[in-house]
Amino acid sequence: MKPKVVVTHDLKFPVLDELKEHAEVVELKKEYPLQGEELVKSVAEADGVICLLTDKFTKEVIEKLSNVKIISTVSAGYDHIDIEEATKKGIYVFNAADPLTISVAEFAFALMLSVARRVVEGDKLIREGNWKSGWSLTFMLGRELRGKTLGIVGLGKIGKEIAKRARCFGMNVIYYSRTRKLEFEEEYNLKFKDLSSVLSEADFLVLSVALTPETKKMISKREISLMKKDAFLINISRGAVVDEEALIEALKNKVISGAALDVFQNEPLSKSSELVKLENVVLTPHIASATFEARRGMAEQAVKNMLYALRGTINEECLVNKEVKKVRTLSKMI
Ligand code: NAP
Repeated sequence: MKPKVVVTHDLKFPVLDELKEHAEVVELKKEYPLQGEELVKSVAEADGVICLLTDKFTKEVIEKLSNVKIISTVSAGYDHIDIEEATKKGIYVFNAADPLTISVAEFAFALMLSVARRVVEGDKLIREGNWKSGWSLTFMLGRELRGKTLGIVGLGKIGKEIAKRARCFGMNVIYYSRTRKLEFEEEYNLKFKDLSSVLSEADFLVLSVALTPETKKMISKREISLMKKDAFLINISRGAVVDEEALIEALKNKVISGAALDVFQNEPLSKSSELVKLENVVLTPHIASATFEARRGMAEQAVKNMLYALRGTINEECLVNKEVKKVRTLSKMI
């Protein structure tokens, strides 16, 4: 009998053909995120699940999944899956990070330039018919990236690509991460610092750290207060890494110069959020990886991870919970 794989959403790219040859593939094509009992019921019979980052595999959901052996997410982040519980249950969790790394790193610069050069403000000004003065020497002045200090928090795949690109802009790069990366530091001329120093020295602070229990609200009132008055905060990681209330207060009181945010505590961000009213903020709807290149690659990678796993082999680079190997051996199903 073929193993069963449930795909929670329409993957939008034709990536399932090979998987369909080997497994019974059930495409739910849900138009909304799955959670709770509905998620349990939808995937309970499956050997493997291909999901999106909007599907909430909480502890309670995972506890009820006695048949599922593999979860392959079409995302880099895996904070929507209770990894500890999945590991305990012997469920192998794979992510699809590589294909989106460049798109997200490039987007970090789109955000930095947008907020520092007031791109969105300028666009709005014209659309609202408020461009009255023509060209003038001091109209809508912003700041260059050149010569500025870029502070990266979380030097993983995306953080490294941001650091590489920062050199082309003539930026000095400092970083804080859980582990120091000496070789990379040497090759790309980066400096490792503790978090407080990165916060207080950066002109542009980019958050590219994973969301974990340790990094939740890692940037709160105290941390923001350490930043320079003319610094910009760029968040392309996860909303919960920042204490959003504290950030709003800081922006209102001009504790920092501005922020560019792709991710939020609650998504979609409500129109009534205070952030929407602030001028010194650029907001984008979680689209840092939204390129044709990245999204196709992510779907392909997630399916590839599933095929490998069904064959009893492990794509180590994408295995999120390495500890699971001690709990259960992955058996060959195809
Ligand atoms: P990654 O390679 O796993 O990098 C994550 C980094 O976070 C690692 O370098 C890790 O540090 C660091 N980290 C984890 N816990 C830490 C802690 N307690 N203190 C300091 N650093 C810590 O992942 P990635 O592919 O670069 O992606 C990074 C994050 O971006 C993802 O987790 C995801 O949430 C987010 N993301 C967002 C979008 C978007 O659309 N906006 C798209 C893709 C990804 P060490 O390596 O030093 O141990």
